[in-house]
Amino acid sequence: MDAHNDIKGVLLDLDGVFYVGERAIEGGQASLQWLREHAIPFRFITNTTTRSPASLLEKLEKFGLHAKASDVFTAVSATVSYLENAGANSVHLLVRDEVKPAFKAFKQSDSPDFVVIGDIGARWHYDELNQVFNMLMEGATLLTMHKNKYWQGENGLLMDIGAFVAALEYVSGQEAIVVGKPNGAFFSLACQSMGLANHDVAIIGDDIESDIGGGRTAGLRSALVKTGKYRARTLAETKVRPDWVIDSIADIHTLFSI
Ligand SMILES: [Mg+2]
Repeated sequence: MDAHNDIKGVLLDLDGVFYVGERAIEGGQASLQWLREHAIPFRFITNTTTRSPASLLEKLEKFGLHAKASDVFTAVSATVSYLENAGANSVHLLVRDEVKPAFKAFKQSDSPDFVVIGDIGARWHYDELNQVFNMLMEGATLLTMHKNKYWQGENGLLMDIGAFVAALEYVSGQEAIVVGKPNGAFFSLACQSMGLANHDVAIIGDDIESDIGGGRTAGLRSALVKTGKYRARTLAETKVRPDWVIDSIADIHTLFSI
């Protein structure tokens, strides 16, 4: 590899990079240790919306990935910040119960300013979608934590929330605001927290669109890992080109000429 020794920091995706479900990916813990030993700053940046930011920290701890709240950028906290900055008053939440307390500053309403979409697992139902459709037709704004197509579960690929967001966009004629990856502002915020410019940072992820595509559009360098949802066919078929492809997070040191 060449011309990569000027990376000053990294953003690390979590799901599919450090673990799949409850199974750790080999080398994750050692790689973090290596980054710390070489004083290379890093942040975790995740579209995971199945857990509150606090419960995500507990999960990381379980995998030996010690992190402070300020080390982790989640689509959930970015969505709360977005609503605060937008002066939102009321919301309708299509999110897991566990995640709802993060939105306690906003009134829950059936005629909301914003409809907020997160991962609700297998709870998607016509009635719920139709209720949201009517809210959108009455003027609510569609805000989604991300629009990922699918993710890697322990027993295969799982449809993510993107298809449901696309359905709501289709019927309402409204384009959703996507807060998490690939939104450039989300990447920039994480880079700024390290005191680094976007072009000095590389994103490491398993999602060719949200991680690699989003990161590149935001001016970051990028490394795709061959774990999690990675499939050779998906990489062959997309126009998105990562700067580097590495077997797994265990190879992160190869991005640096240290
Ligand atoms: Mg991932």
